[in-house]
Amino acid sequence: MEAEIIAVGTELLLGDILNTNAQFLSRELAALGITVHFQTVVGDNPARLESVVRQARGRSDLLVFSGGLGPTEDDLTKQTVARAFGDTLRFDEAELEKIRAFFTAWGRTMPENNKKQAMVPTHGRKIPNANGTAPGMIFEDQAAPGKYAVLLPGPPKELQPMFLNSVKPWLAAMSDSVLHSVTLRVTGVGESHLESRIGHLLENANPTAAVYAKTAEVVIRITAKAASEDEARRMCSDYAKHFYDILGDCVYAMDADSLEEVVVKELAARGLTVATAESCTGGMLSQRITAVPGASEVFAYGACTYANDIKEKMLGVRHETLEAYGAVSPETAAEMARGVREAAGADLGVGVTGIAGPGGGTPEKPVGLVYLAACNADTVYVQKLVITGRTREVVRLSSTQHALEMVRR
Ligand code: ATP
Ligand code: MG
Repeated sequence: MEAEIIAVGTELLLGDILNTNAQFLSRELAALGITVHFQTVVGDNPARLESVVRQARGRSDLLVFSGGLGPTEDDLTKQTVARAFGDTLRFDEAELEKIRAFFTAWGRTMPENNKKQAMVPTHGRKIPNANGTAPGMIFEDQAAPGKYAVLLPGPPKELQPMFLNSVKPWLAAMSDSVLHSVTLRVTGVGESHLESRIGHLLENANPTAAVYAKTAEVVIRITAKAASEDEARRMCSDYAKHFYDILGDCVYAMDADSLEEVVVKELAARGLTVATAESCTGGMLSQRITAVPGASEVFAYGACTYANDIKEKMLGVRHETLEAYGAVSPETAAEMARGVREAAGADLGVGVTGIAGPGGGTPEKPVGLVYLAACNADTVYVQKLVITGRTREVVRLSSTQHALEMVRR
């Protein structure tokens, strides 16, 4: 099945909002094994919308629309698609009741023009919307059965659950094969280096494997197509073994959400607590750890010690160390880690100090130079990072990523 995505909305053309619905839909359709050939954005303009619909209908089996189902005058997607697909719209009393109830629940009366949203396809079907007033709908082309248009409202909070709960199962049921995907999360290997090691694994037809670079980590998605879910699952995990063989424990998780989640889980399993002292990351490391439910079991204390005298006062970093080596140095990082570990009475301590930029760099200590330290009662490990050519945010995020990585190991 060949699909295309049509996002409707002048605000998208003006750059006021980002077309995240197209990204979401493309991903979801790809995961279903449906090839997306085009993504189009068109404004709230009937003539242009009509020409987009006509062109799309001529070249694709599945048209997925986002937006343009609202009650305002410029929301014309429904009528335009109905006409192109040889269908008409009928008034749906039950749908109107739902819309009215939605307003009542918010303590408001329904404006007259919301009645428009109770118009549904005569031949096609409606898609329930649990989070808004506009129902979605599916039209089948009356002149070319097997060709469909799916209409979903613009707000992602409405579109996403409607796609996942209604459209996805409907599409999956039409297909005679099942797709299953797993994601491997890899950290500690650069993307270009990674490609040279696993490039040959990315050329397979089934399962397929694709690599996505994120900040300071890489995601590998493996997708298998098979007659049954079990079979597809087994193919994915078999294929994943090849990646584990090559990358070892740089693969930190399969199907987990984030490195911090894995770290919290592992610390909890080992009964260890951690405390952090941060300079250039300003608390981002402690924020990432504490964002994980259950972090209280493993996280003791996070200090954001930006100024030098605070590093001395709060963490016991020695004045001489700062004088001799500076705040951005392996020595300071190590003393920060030790100091915060002791202050918290934790099992592990972490120190982060660096130059996030864009200003503040020198030839000896350039922007992007970061020292990380992790210690337990006996040993301090120090790691030097040089994150070149990156923005302040990326330097900070990468630093926390590597710090989490040190804790994990
Ligand atoms: P409504 O009933 O809210 O008017 P609608 O189906 O008419 O819904 P739009 O008016 O096109 O949808 O968009 C409503 C809101 O949904 C936009 O203001 C925007 O916040 C969000 N939105 C619309 N299209 C997209 C998109 N392609 N990607 C991300 N967000 C979007
Ligand atoms: Mg609208």
